[in-house]
Amino acid sequence: MSKDHDHDHHSHAIPSDPALRVQALETVLVEKGLVDPGALDVFVDYYQNEVGPRNGARVVARAWSDPDYRAWLFDDASAAITDMGYAGRQGEDMVALENTAQVHNMVVCTLCSCYPWPVLGLPPVWYKSAPYRSRAVIEPRAVLAEFGLELPDDTEVRVWDSTAELRYLVVPMRPVGSDGWSAEQLADLITRDSMIGTGLARDPGAPQESSQT
Ligand code: FE
Repeated sequence: MSKDHDHDHHSHAIPSDPALRVQALETVLVEKGLVDPGALDVFVDYYQNEVGPRNGARVVARAWSDPDYRAWLFDDASAAITDMGYAGRQGEDMVALENTAQVHNMVVCTLCSCYPWPVLGLPPVWYKSAPYRSRAVIEPRAVLAEFGLELPDDTEVRVWDSTAELRYLVVPMRPVGSDGWSAEQLADLITRDSMIGTGLARDPGAPQESSQT
């Protein structure tokens, strides 16, 4: 983008969502034989599941551990997240949503694939899929059930539609049995899906080892 070209008609020809641009780029690279799609899948999967969401997990772990930070996060998520060093494209205007026994929040982008990159990395394929984008709004409980998440009938499910202007980070409930855990230990309990609202935090009693006596 040249500096002397300051009007924005490019944005009408090119999808404004960086995820769409990346997808277009991937298609071209694979079609020209420059990239092995299998290798790319491994790479993308790693970023979707490990590298990206780890940032969000640290934000949530800090909110679980520090009441002042928690209050700040719900008051001004953009500032509180930037304080952790996570900022950048698609993370400028963040809102944190608190999951409780009464209210379960889940996030979708019905229009395309808006997603909080700085805290969650690249969006998973299902997040970008047409069925998720439409069904999350129409029948959120059925969608959650397919993720293995059955909520009590008296828990209200709220669905939040991401836009280019607003991105959401779900703060899952801190699981019972994690008392006294360090923020770094807690972060291991916080999955990507729990921060989209299609999952819960991991059960501390299950697989992860803690160093408690
Ligand atoms: Fe979008």
